[in-house]
Amino acid sequence: MNFDLTEEQIAIRDAARDFAETEIAPTSVERDLTSEFPTEIVKKLGELGFMGMMVSPEWSGAGMDTLSYVLAIEEISKVDASVGVIMSVNNSLVCYGLEKWGSEYLKEKYLKPLASGKMLGAFCLSEPEAGSDATQQRTEAVPEGDHYILNGMKNWITNGTQADVYFLQAMTDKSKGYKGISTFIVEKNSPGIEVGKKEDKMGIRSSDTCTLGLNNVKVPKENILGEEGIGFKIAMSTLNGGRIGVAAQALGIARASFEASVKYSKQRKAFDSTISNLQAIQFKLADMATSVEAASLLVYRAAKNKDEGKPYIKEASMGKLLASKAAVDCSLEAIQVHGGYGYVREYLVERYMRDSKITQIYEGTSEIQKLVIARELLKG
Ligand SMILES: Cc1cc2nc3c(=O)[nH]c(=O)nc-3n(C[C@H](O)[C@H](O)[C@H](O)COP(=O)(O)OP(=O)(O)OC[C@H]3O[C@@H](n4cnc5c(N)ncnc54)[C@H](O)[C@@H]3O)c2cc1C
Repeated sequence: MNFDLTEEQIAIRDAARDFAETEIAPTSVERDLTSEFPTEIVKKLGELGFMGMMVSPEWSGAGMDTLSYVLAIEEISKVDASVGVIMSVNNSLVCYGLEKWGSEYLKEKYLKPLASGKMLGAFCLSEPEAGSDATQQRTEAVPEGDHYILNGMKNWITNGTQADVYFLQAMTDKSKGYKGISTFIVEKNSPGIEVGKKEDKMGIRSSDTCTLGLNNVKVPKENILGEEGIGFKIAMSTLNGGRIGVAAQALGIARASFEASVKYSKQRKAFDSTISNLQAIQFKLADMATSVEAASLLVYRAAKNKDEGKPYIKEASMGKLLASKAAVDCSLEAIQVHGGYGYVREYLVERYMRDSKITQIYEGTSEIQKLVIARELLKG
Protein backbone atom coordinates (compact mmCIF):
# COMPACT_ATOMS: atom_id res chain seq x y z
CA MET A 1 0.00 0.00 0.00
CA ASN A 2 1.31 3.40 -0.97
CA PHE A 3 1.41 5.95 1.84
CA ASP A 4 3.11 8.71 -0.14
CA LEU A 5 1.23 11.77 1.01
CA THR A 6 -0.24 14.18 -1.50
CA GLU A 7 0.76 17.85 -1.38
CA GLU A 8 -2.60 18.64 0.15
CA GLN A 9 -2.20 16.02 2.89
CA ILE A 10 1.27 17.33 3.72
CA ALA A 11 -0.07 20.89 3.87
CA ILE A 12 -2.87 19.84 6.24
CA ARG A 13 -0.47 17.90 8.46
CA ASP A 14 1.93 20.85 8.59
CA ALA A 15 -0.87 23.32 9.32
CA ALA A 16 -2.10 21.13 12.19
CA ARG A 17 1.46 20.79 13.53
CA ASP A 18 2.01 24.53 13.35
CA PHE A 19 -1.30 25.26 15.08
CA ALA A 20 -0.56 22.69 17.80
CA GLU A 21 2.87 24.11 18.52
CA THR A 22 1.94 27.78 18.47
CA GLU A 23 -1.66 27.83 19.75
CA ILE A 24 -2.10 24.68 21.87
CA ALA A 25 1.28 23.92 23.46
CA PRO A 26 1.62 27.17 25.46
CA THR A 27 -1.44 26.38 27.63
CA SER A 28 -1.47 22.56 27.66
CA VAL A 29 0.38 22.08 30.98
CA GLU A 30 -1.78 24.61 32.78
CA ARG A 31 -5.03 23.19 31.36
CA ASP A 32 -3.99 19.69 32.43
CA LEU A 33 -3.55 21.00 35.98
CA THR A 34 -6.76 23.01 36.11
CA SER A 35 -8.92 20.82 33.82
CA GLU A 36 -9.92 23.97 31.95
CA PHE A 37 -11.72 23.39 28.63
CA PRO A 38 -9.80 24.91 25.66
CA THR A 39 -12.69 27.12 24.48
CA GLU A 40 -10.63 29.59 22.43
CA ILE A 41 -8.54 26.83 20.84
CA VAL A 42 -11.67 24.93 19.76
CA LYS A 43 -13.10 28.13 18.30
CA LYS A 44 -9.94 28.69 16.24
CA LEU A 45 -9.88 25.04 15.14
CA GLY A 46 -13.41 25.58 13.84
CA GLU A 47 -12.42 28.69 11.91
CA LEU A 48 -9.57 26.74 10.29
CA GLY A 49 -11.88 23.92 9.18
CA PHE A 50 -10.58 21.32 11.66
CA MET A 51 -13.95 20.65 13.33
CA GLY A 52 -15.71 19.32 10.22
CA MET A 53 -12.76 18.06 8.23
CA MET A 54 -14.47 15.26 6.29
CA VAL A 55 -17.84 16.96 5.85
CA SER A 56 -18.70 18.04 2.31
CA PRO A 57 -18.32 21.78 1.58
CA GLU A 58 -22.05 21.67 0.70
CA TRP A 59 -22.61 21.37 4.47
CA SER A 60 -19.90 23.87 5.46
CA GLY A 61 -17.23 21.20 5.96
CA ALA A 62 -13.67 21.14 4.68
CA GLY A 63 -14.26 18.19 2.31
CA MET A 64 -11.00 16.43 3.18
CA ASP A 65 -10.23 12.74 3.15
CA THR A 66 -9.87 10.47 6.19
CA LEU A 67 -6.09 10.24 5.90
CA SER A 68 -5.81 14.05 6.16
CA TYR A 69 -8.08 13.89 9.21
CA VAL A 70 -5.85 11.22 10.80
CA LEU A 71 -2.71 13.27 10.16
CA ALA A 72 -4.32 16.33 11.76
CA ILE A 73 -5.60 14.47 14.85
CA GLU A 74 -2.19 12.85 15.25
CA GLU A 75 -0.36 16.20 15.15
CA ILE A 76 -2.81 17.85 17.55
CA SER A 77 -2.71 14.88 19.97
CA LYS A 78 1.08 14.82 19.88
CA VAL A 79 0.89 18.16 21.67
CA ASP A 80 -2.39 17.76 23.58
CA ALA A 81 -4.55 14.63 23.49
CA SER A 82 -7.39 16.48 25.26
CA VAL A 83 -7.81 18.71 22.21
CA GLY A 84 -7.52 15.59 20.04
CA VAL A 85 -10.56 13.94 21.58
CA ILE A 86 -12.68 17.10 21.46
CA MET A 87 -11.98 17.30 17.72
CA SER A 88 -12.42 13.60 17.15
CA VAL A 89 -15.89 13.40 18.75
CA ASN A 90 -17.18 16.39 16.79
CA ASN A 91 -15.66 15.23 13.48
CA SER A 92 -15.91 11.49 13.22
CA LEU A 93 -18.87 10.79 15.47
CA VAL A 94 -21.30 13.72 15.43
CA CYS A 95 -20.63 15.29 12.00
CA TYR A 96 -20.11 11.94 10.29
CA GLY A 97 -23.34 10.50 11.73
CA LEU A 98 -25.36 13.58 10.83
CA GLU A 99 -24.04 13.76 7.27
CA LYS A 100 -24.67 10.06 6.67
CA TRP A 101 -28.03 9.65 8.39
CA GLY A 102 -29.52 13.10 8.89
CA SER A 103 -32.33 14.68 6.85
CA GLU A 104 -31.69 17.82 4.78
CA TYR A 105 -33.48 19.76 7.55
CA LEU A 106 -31.14 18.39 10.25
CA LYS A 107 -28.07 18.99 8.12
CA GLU A 108 -29.07 22.57 7.43
CA LYS A 109 -29.93 23.28 11.05
CA TYR A 110 -27.16 21.38 12.87
CA LEU A 111 -24.50 19.97 10.54
CA LYS A 112 -23.58 23.31 8.99
CA PRO A 113 -22.81 25.02 12.33
CA LEU A 114 -21.17 21.87 13.72
CA ALA A 115 -18.89 21.44 10.71
CA SER A 116 -17.86 25.10 10.69
CA GLY A 117 -17.13 25.21 14.42
CA LYS A 118 -20.05 27.47 15.32
CA MET A 119 -21.54 24.67 17.42
CA LEU A 120 -19.95 21.77 19.30
CA GLY A 121 -21.41 18.27 19.41
CA ALA A 122 -21.32 15.33 21.84
CA PHE A 123 -22.03 11.64 21.19
CA CYS A 124 -24.25 10.07 23.83
CA LEU A 125 -24.39 6.29 23.79
CA SER A 126 -22.97 5.13 27.16
CA GLU A 127 -25.17 4.76 30.22
CA PRO A 128 -24.47 3.58 33.76
CA GLU A 129 -25.78 0.12 32.78
CA ALA A 130 -24.81 0.19 29.08
CA GLY A 131 -21.07 0.44 28.38
CA SER A 132 -19.45 -2.24 26.23
CA ASP A 133 -22.88 -3.80 25.87
CA ALA A 134 -24.52 -0.73 24.37
CA THR A 135 -27.65 -2.72 23.49
CA GLN A 136 -28.80 -2.28 27.13
CA GLN A 137 -30.07 1.29 26.64
CA ARG A 138 -32.44 2.38 29.41
CA THR A 139 -33.04 5.92 28.17
CA GLU A 140 -36.50 5.93 26.65
CA ALA A 141 -38.14 8.10 23.98
CA VAL A 142 -41.93 8.00 23.97
CA PRO A 143 -43.88 9.66 21.11
CA GLU A 144 -46.39 12.32 22.17
CA GLY A 145 -47.99 14.49 19.49
CA ASP A 146 -45.31 16.08 17.34
CA HIS A 147 -42.59 15.33 19.91
CA TYR A 148 -40.82 12.52 21.71
CA ILE A 149 -40.46 12.69 25.48
CA LEU A 150 -37.03 11.48 26.61
CA ASN A 151 -36.19 10.18 30.07
CA GLY A 152 -33.00 8.53 31.26
CA MET A 153 -29.34 8.98 32.01
CA LYS A 154 -26.18 9.10 29.91
CA ASN A 155 -22.67 9.01 31.32
CA TRP A 156 -19.07 9.60 30.29
CA ILE A 157 -20.13 12.17 27.70
CA THR A 158 -17.12 13.86 26.07
CA ASN A 159 -17.84 17.56 25.36
CA GLY A 160 -20.93 17.10 27.56
CA THR A 161 -20.90 20.38 29.47
CA GLN A 162 -19.71 22.44 26.47
CA ALA A 163 -21.70 20.96 23.59
CA ASP A 164 -24.61 22.73 21.93
CA VAL A 165 -26.17 19.50 20.64
CA TYR A 166 -26.22 15.86 21.63
CA PHE A 167 -26.21 12.98 19.16
CA LEU A 168 -28.15 10.69 21.46
CA GLN A 169 -29.42 7.10 21.48
CA ALA A 170 -32.67 6.13 23.21
CA MET A 171 -35.12 3.22 23.21
CA THR A 172 -38.28 3.82 21.22
CA ASP A 173 -39.43 0.19 21.52
CA LYS A 174 -38.05 -1.87 24.42
CA SER A 175 -39.74 -5.05 23.20
CA LYS A 176 -37.48 -5.09 20.14
CA GLY A 177 -34.19 -5.01 22.09
CA TYR A 178 -31.39 -3.29 20.18
CA LYS A 179 -33.68 -3.02 17.15
CA GLY A 180 -35.80 -0.67 19.23
CA ILE A 181 -33.03 1.93 19.63
CA SER A 182 -33.28 5.26 17.77
CA THR A 183 -30.96 8.25 17.37
CA PHE A 184 -31.97 11.84 18.13
CA ILE A 185 -30.41 15.27 17.91
CA VAL A 186 -31.13 16.93 21.25
CA GLU A 187 -30.37 20.56 21.95
CA LYS A 188 -28.49 21.14 25.18
CA ASN A 189 -30.70 24.04 26.20
CA SER A 190 -33.84 21.85 26.09
CA PRO A 191 -35.77 22.03 29.37
CA GLY A 192 -35.19 18.85 31.41
CA ILE A 193 -31.53 18.35 30.48
CA GLU A 194 -29.47 18.09 33.62
CA VAL A 195 -25.75 18.45 32.94
CA GLY A 196 -23.67 16.75 35.64
CA LYS A 197 -20.34 17.95 36.98
CA LYS A 198 -17.18 17.52 34.95
CA GLU A 199 -15.46 14.22 35.85
CA ASP A 200 -12.09 14.51 37.64
CA LYS A 201 -10.08 12.29 35.32
CA MET A 202 -6.62 10.72 35.39
CA GLY A 203 -5.77 11.98 31.90
CA ILE A 204 -7.13 14.06 29.01
CA ARG A 205 -8.06 16.39 31.83
CA SER A 206 -8.69 19.48 29.75
CA SER A 207 -11.33 17.62 27.76
CA ASP A 208 -14.79 17.60 29.20
CA THR A 209 -16.57 14.44 30.40
CA CYS A 210 -19.86 14.44 32.29
CA THR A 211 -23.14 12.73 33.06
CA LEU A 212 -26.39 13.87 31.45
CA GLY A 213 -29.80 13.43 33.02
CA LEU A 214 -32.89 13.59 30.78
CA ASN A 215 -36.09 14.44 32.64
CA ASN A 216 -39.14 14.67 30.35
CA VAL A 217 -37.10 16.32 27.60
CA LYS A 218 -39.28 17.27 24.61
CA VAL A 219 -37.56 16.55 21.29
CA PRO A 220 -39.32 17.43 18.01
CA LYS A 221 -40.13 14.41 15.84
CA GLU A 222 -38.07 15.81 12.96
CA ASN A 223 -34.97 15.46 15.18
CA ILE A 224 -34.86 11.70 14.76
CA LEU A 225 -32.11 10.40 12.45
CA GLY A 226 -33.56 8.26 9.71
CA GLU A 227 -36.41 6.34 11.27
CA GLU A 228 -37.24 4.57 14.53
CA GLY A 229 -35.28 1.39 15.24
CA ILE A 230 -32.06 2.06 13.32
CA GLY A 231 -30.23 3.86 16.15
CA PHE A 232 -28.00 0.93 17.07
CA LYS A 233 -26.95 0.51 13.45
CA ILE A 234 -26.22 4.26 13.26
CA ALA A 235 -24.19 4.20 16.49
CA MET A 236 -22.14 1.17 15.47
CA SER A 237 -21.42 2.38 11.94
CA THR A 238 -20.44 5.78 13.35
CA LEU A 239 -18.10 4.18 15.89
CA ASN A 240 -16.43 2.10 13.17
CA GLY A 241 -15.11 5.33 11.66
CA GLY A 242 -14.69 7.07 15.02
CA ARG A 243 -12.16 4.43 16.03
CA ILE A 244 -9.83 5.69 13.33
CA GLY A 245 -9.89 9.08 15.08
CA VAL A 246 -9.07 7.59 18.50
CA ALA A 247 -6.35 5.47 16.89
CA ALA A 248 -4.84 8.67 15.44
CA GLN A 249 -5.03 10.28 18.89
CA ALA A 250 -3.15 7.28 20.35
CA LEU A 251 -0.60 7.48 17.57
CA GLY A 252 0.07 11.12 18.44
CA ILE A 253 0.71 10.24 22.10
CA ALA A 254 2.98 7.32 21.12
CA ARG A 255 4.99 9.47 18.72
CA ALA A 256 5.34 12.29 21.25
CA SER A 257 6.63 9.78 23.84
CA PHE A 258 9.15 8.37 21.39
CA GLU A 259 10.42 11.75 20.21
CA ALA A 260 10.77 13.05 23.78
CA SER A 261 12.78 9.95 24.65
CA VAL A 262 15.18 10.31 21.72
CA LYS A 263 15.76 13.97 22.56
CA TYR A 264 16.30 13.38 26.27
CA SER A 265 18.58 10.37 25.75
CA LYS A 266 20.91 12.49 23.65
CA GLN A 267 21.15 15.14 26.38
CA ARG A 268 21.29 13.17 29.63
CA LYS A 269 24.73 12.07 30.75
CA ALA A 270 25.54 9.08 32.95
CA PHE A 271 28.84 7.24 33.35
CA ASP A 272 30.74 9.76 31.19
CA SER A 273 28.48 9.46 28.16
CA THR A 274 24.97 10.30 27.03
CA ILE A 275 22.45 7.59 27.91
CA SER A 276 21.73 7.25 24.17
CA ASN A 277 25.02 5.33 24.01
CA LEU A 278 23.73 2.70 26.44
CA GLN A 279 22.39 -0.36 24.66
CA ALA A 280 19.62 -0.76 27.25
CA ILE A 281 18.29 2.68 26.24
CA GLN A 282 18.85 2.04 22.53
CA PHE A 283 16.72 -1.12 22.76
CA LYS A 284 13.92 0.89 24.33
CA LEU A 285 14.11 3.46 21.53
CA ALA A 286 14.16 0.70 18.92
CA ASP A 287 11.08 -0.97 20.43
CA MET A 288 9.26 2.36 20.62
CA ALA A 289 10.10 3.29 17.02
CA THR A 290 8.96 -0.11 15.80
CA SER A 291 5.61 0.01 17.58
CA VAL A 292 4.94 3.60 16.40
CA GLU A 293 5.71 2.62 12.79
CA ALA A 294 3.61 -0.55 12.94
CA ALA A 295 0.67 1.31 14.46
CA SER A 296 0.87 4.14 11.95
CA LEU A 297 0.82 1.71 9.02
CA LEU A 298 -2.35 0.06 10.36
CA VAL A 299 -4.08 3.36 11.15
CA TYR A 300 -3.22 4.94 7.78
CA ARG A 301 -4.39 1.78 6.02
CA ALA A 302 -7.75 1.93 7.82
CA ALA A 303 -8.11 5.58 6.74
CA LYS A 304 -7.14 4.81 3.13
CA ASN A 305 -9.53 1.87 2.96
CA LYS A 306 -12.34 4.15 4.15
CA ASP A 307 -11.41 6.79 1.57
CA GLU A 308 -11.28 4.21 -1.22
CA GLY A 309 -14.63 2.65 -0.29
CA LYS A 310 -12.97 -0.62 0.81
CA PRO A 311 -13.91 -2.53 3.99
CA TYR A 312 -12.39 -0.84 7.04
CA ILE A 313 -14.15 -2.19 10.15
CA LYS A 314 -11.49 -4.80 10.97
CA GLU A 315 -8.71 -2.43 9.92
CA ALA A 316 -10.01 0.38 12.15
CA SER A 317 -10.24 -1.95 15.15
CA MET A 318 -6.75 -3.33 14.48
CA GLY A 319 -5.43 0.21 14.18
CA LYS A 320 -7.05 1.29 17.45
CA LEU A 321 -5.92 -1.87 19.26
CA LEU A 322 -2.29 -1.50 18.21
CA ALA A 323 -2.02 2.29 18.37
CA SER A 324 -3.51 2.43 21.88
CA LYS A 325 -1.07 -0.26 23.02
CA ALA A 326 1.77 1.69 21.41
CA ALA A 327 0.64 4.83 23.27
CA VAL A 328 0.55 3.08 26.66
CA ASP A 329 3.81 1.16 26.13
CA CYS A 330 5.76 4.08 24.68
CA SER A 331 4.62 6.55 27.32
CA LEU A 332 5.61 4.15 30.13
CA GLU A 333 9.00 3.56 28.53
CA ALA A 334 9.44 7.30 28.02
CA ILE A 335 9.17 7.74 31.79
CA GLN A 336 11.82 5.07 32.28
CA VAL A 337 14.15 6.76 29.79
CA HIS A 338 13.70 10.05 31.67
CA GLY A 339 14.40 8.41 35.05
CA GLY A 340 13.26 10.57 37.99
CA TYR A 341 12.62 13.51 35.68
CA GLY A 342 10.00 11.42 33.90
CA TYR A 343 8.01 11.21 37.11
CA VAL A 344 7.41 14.95 37.52
CA ARG A 345 5.17 17.30 35.60
CA GLU A 346 7.97 19.49 34.27
CA TYR A 347 8.78 16.86 31.65
CA LEU A 348 5.66 16.05 29.70
CA VAL A 349 6.01 12.28 29.57
CA GLU A 350 4.04 11.63 32.77
CA ARG A 351 1.05 13.35 31.11
CA TYR A 352 1.51 11.24 28.01
CA MET A 353 1.17 8.16 30.22
CA ARG A 354 -1.97 9.49 31.94
CA ASP A 355 -3.48 10.54 28.60
CA SER A 356 -2.64 7.28 26.85
CA LYS A 357 -4.71 4.89 28.96
CA ILE A 358 -8.11 6.17 27.85
CA THR A 359 -7.37 5.17 24.25
CA GLN A 360 -7.67 1.53 25.38
CA ILE A 361 -11.08 2.23 26.91
CA TYR A 362 -13.33 4.58 24.92
CA GLU A 363 -15.02 3.94 21.58
CA GLY A 364 -14.73 0.24 22.45
CA THR A 365 -12.23 -1.19 24.93
CA SER A 366 -9.28 -3.23 23.61
CA GLU A 367 -11.21 -6.38 24.51
CA ILE A 368 -14.14 -5.19 22.37
CA GLN A 369 -11.75 -4.40 19.48
CA LYS A 370 -10.60 -8.02 19.62
CA LEU A 371 -14.22 -9.19 19.46
CA VAL A 372 -14.80 -6.99 16.40
CA ILE A 373 -11.61 -8.22 14.70
CA ALA A 374 -12.46 -11.87 15.40
CA ARG A 375 -16.04 -11.41 14.18
CA GLU A 376 -14.81 -9.90 10.91
CA LEU A 377 -12.14 -12.63 10.50
CA LEU A 378 -14.64 -15.42 10.96
CA LYS A 379 -17.33 -13.94 8.71
CA GLY A 380 -18.61 -15.99 5.82
C1 LIG B 1 -12.99 9.80 29.56
C2 LIG B 1 -14.09 9.03 28.91
C3 LIG B 1 -14.77 9.58 27.83
C4 LIG B 1 -15.82 8.90 27.23
N1 LIG B 1 -16.54 9.49 26.22
C5 LIG B 1 -17.70 8.92 25.80
C6 LIG B 1 -18.59 9.61 24.92
O1 LIG B 1 -18.30 10.74 24.47
N2 LIG B 1 -19.75 9.03 24.58
C7 LIG B 1 -20.11 7.80 25.04
O2 LIG B 1 -21.18 7.33 24.69
N3 LIG B 1 -19.27 7.10 25.87
C8 LIG B 1 -18.10 7.63 26.26
N4 LIG B 1 -17.26 6.95 27.13
C9 LIG B 1 -17.66 5.64 27.61
C10 LIG B 1 -16.78 4.52 27.10
O3 LIG B 1 -17.03 4.30 25.73
C11 LIG B 1 -17.03 3.28 27.97
O4 LIG B 1 -16.42 3.54 29.22
C12 LIG B 1 -16.49 2.01 27.36
O5 LIG B 1 -17.25 1.66 26.23
C13 LIG B 1 -16.51 0.83 28.34
O6 LIG B 1 -17.75 0.73 29.00
P1 LIG B 1 -17.79 0.61 30.60
O7 LIG B 1 -16.98 1.70 31.14
O8 LIG B 1 -19.20 0.50 31.02
O9 LIG B 1 -17.04 -0.75 30.90
P2 LIG B 1 -17.69 -2.21 30.89
O10 LIG B 1 -18.46 -2.43 29.64
O11 LIG B 1 -18.36 -2.45 32.18
O12 LIG B 1 -16.37 -3.11 30.81
C14 LIG B 1 -15.58 -3.44 31.97
C15 LIG B 1 -14.49 -4.40 31.52
O13 LIG B 1 -15.07 -5.62 31.00
C16 LIG B 1 -14.60 -5.85 29.67
N5 LIG B 1 -15.66 -6.44 28.86
C17 LIG B 1 -16.96 -6.07 28.77
N6 LIG B 1 -17.62 -6.85 27.91
C18 LIG B 1 -16.71 -7.74 27.42
C19 LIG B 1 -16.79 -8.81 26.48
N7 LIG B 1 -17.91 -9.14 25.87
N8 LIG B 1 -15.64 -9.52 26.25
C20 LIG B 1 -14.48 -9.22 26.86
N9 LIG B 1 -14.37 -8.22 27.77
C21 LIG B 1 -15.46 -7.49 28.03
C22 LIG B 1 -14.21 -4.48 29.14
O14 LIG B 1 -13.30 -4.58 28.06
C23 LIG B 1 -13.62 -3.84 30.38
O15 LIG B 1 -12.29 -4.27 30.53
C24 LIG B 1 -16.17 7.60 27.70
C25 LIG B 1 -15.48 7.04 28.78
C26 LIG B 1 -14.47 7.75 29.40
C27 LIG B 1 -13.78 7.13 30.59
